Amino acid sequence: MSAYVSAFELFSIGVGPSSSHTVGPLRAARAFVVRLEAAGRLPEVARVGCVLYGSLGATGIGHGTPDAVVAGLQGHAPETVDPDVVRGAWTEWVDGSPLVLAGWHAVPFSRSDVTFEPRTRLPEHPNAMTLSAWDAAGDLVASETYLSVGGGFIRRAGEAAEAGGRRGGSCAVAWPYRFSTAAELLELCEREQMSIAGLARRNEEALRPEAEVAAGLDAIWDAMAGCVEAGLRADGTLPGMLRVRRRAGAMRAQLEQAEAAGGRELPGEWLGAFALAVNEENASGGRVVTAPTNGAAGILPAVAMYWWRFAAESRLASEDLDRRRGIRRFLLTATALGSLFKANASISGAEGGCQAEVGSACAMAAGGLTAVMGGNSAQIENAAEIAMEHHLGLTCDPVGGLVQIPCIERNAIAASTAVTAARLALRGDGQHYVSLDAVVETMRQTGIDMSHKYKETSEGGLAVNVVEC
Ligand code: SF4
Repeated sequence: MSAYVSAFELFSIGVGPSSSHTVGPLRAARAFVVRLEAAGRLPEVARVGCVLYGSLGATGIGHGTPDAVVAGLQGHAPETVDPDVVRGAWTEWVDGSPLVLAGWHAVPFSRSDVTFEPRTRLPEHPNAMTLSAWDAAGDLVASETYLSVGGGFIRRAGEAAEAGGRRGGSCAVAWPYRFSTAAELLELCEREQMSIAGLARRNEEALRPEAEVAAGLDAIWDAMAGCVEAGLRADGTLPGMLRVRRRAGAMRAQLEQAEAAGGRELPGEWLGAFALAVNEENASGGRVVTAPTNGAAGILPAVAMYWWRFAAESRLASEDLDRRRGIRRFLLTATALGSLFKANASISGAEGGCQAEVGSACAMAAGGLTAVMGGNSAQIENAAEIAMEHHLGLTCDPVGGLVQIPCIERNAIAASTAVTAARLALRGDGQHYVSLDAVVETMRQTGIDMSHKYKETSEGGLAVNVVEC
């Protein structure tokens, strides 16, 4: 059993605001109609319905879950759908109007065909949803329960975890370099005299040619950078009852002005602006790369953009790397580390609290930054461990069920932590007391012990102590 998950699954281009509550349900609803279509049963369908359980039922509306279900039933995929098609797809639905399943079979549909059961927790996962289809006589044509297991990954209830990839998951691939713990990963690097990114690249090349791997990683980076740029150019108010003002655009204007006046760059402040930009785009339902989730989507792009833009300023930057190659190394290193969190603990806020989402992303970014700043495998493992250790116990308590407060600022803080962790590790020799494996296991245990109130239900923490206006 190998922990490795392909970069093209861990970093998928999708829509905001949530990988588990928006991207996963969209994917599940699409999978449901595609299965009906493949079985030749779609023409029989006269009505469809969806029940959202547990966390999906509790905070689904704030996360655009029913909108995503409608878009998925229409046959849209998160990678290609126009974010404007998803926004308001259920919220603004005219009851009784035709819903065109899989893009060609119309049935009448009302908002009440999506129901919410937040108090019902299915045993396999807190994020569960059942999709059903009936014929004109009211007989059931098909009913499937899907689990949205974090990071946009889905699986059908009762199916083995090996099917947990987003689509055609990579867990069953015979990777050339197999590892299930950080200790095994470090041993492999030592034995093969390869970097963590080098091992990950060879694994990716088991699935697609070298040029395609490079082009695919460049496309992920282009989407991340595009999201940063879009967020830095936007202003106004985010959707939802909190009326949260977007800050990244104003911060960009302030920084540009301050730099012009002072004649020097302000990398640390830009780092926060980059993270805010991505998370504001995510909160507005824009085009976002899950990294490894949407709630934590700002950390990796912010840290990578910090390196991209200010690498020349850093005394520690490796001079032999051009920036595109550096970003590929960053993403591949982060992929190997993220695989360990996904396999041995969780990257899902509904499963492990925010430590699983933001903590994992922070560790991945810290490791990636250490790699592109010339760190060796032991220093990369050290950086990831430092970053994760100081997120242990972090709860998930989004106010109003929206991925806004505390999520947006939290990404900026975690980006800063990732940079600090990388710098601490780079000043050491890779030797340290707490191993990454120990901290991953601690995160898993802490997630199990954590009350469900702090796992994306908005029933505890800030979510109950901040008055929604
Ligand atoms: S609090 Fe953390 S885990 Fe919860 S929605 Fe926000 S970013 Fe995700």
